Amino acid sequence: MSWELVVKQKFSAAHFLENYKGKCEKMHGHTFQVDVYLRVNKLDKVGISIDFKNIMEYLKSVLPDHQVLNEIFDFSPSAENLARHFFHLIKRKYPVSKVIVWESENAAASYSEE
Ligand SMILES: [Zn+2]
Repeated sequence: MSWELVVKQKFSAAHFLENYKGKCEKMHGHTFQVDVYLRVNKLDKVGISIDFKNIMEYLKSVLPDHQVLNEIFDFSPSAENLARHFFHLIKRKYPVSKVIVWESENAAASYSEE
């Protein structure tokens, strides 16, 4: 018996891709959406596993809103690398199973360790 919880949160940030030829080598911005999947296998007596409010607050606190991602990270801030980075941050506190980073409405990268 298990459940999968999903929370999503948006943040706005600027980045550029190093060692890349094309439009994305220049600084530009996105409103990123981050979807976090958590796997749980028991509920408390209220009938919930992890309070959505707590996950949302934590997620909000770790997302780099209004930052230049290349300045704050020591990795190339592609959607793929961001998904892996957020996965490891969230894993410190919650049973995360997957993180998806949407760079636009139509393009996303997903990271999991399964
Ligand atoms: Zn971009």
